[in-house]
Amino acid sequence: MAKYHKCLKKLDEELEKTNTRLVANILNQNHVFIDTERIRKLRDGKKATTVIATYCPFCGEKLKGT
Ligand SMILES: [Zn+2]
Repeated sequence: MAKYHKCLKKLDEELEKTNTRLVANILNQNHVFIDTERIRKLRDGKKATTVIATYCPFCGEKLKGT
């Protein structure tokens, strides 16, 4: 597993105080999901497309394993 990126680790530690965490891939914590939603609410059983950040949104470094 790639090393947990420093900004994300710090943020998760802060968020934990409010029982919150970033939404990430359980197999790679550096795969942080960008929140997405469907534009039109169709009854087709499909979900919104998954998007992960490839660069840290806080310091701009490339996230390992993305
Ligand atoms: Zn960072």
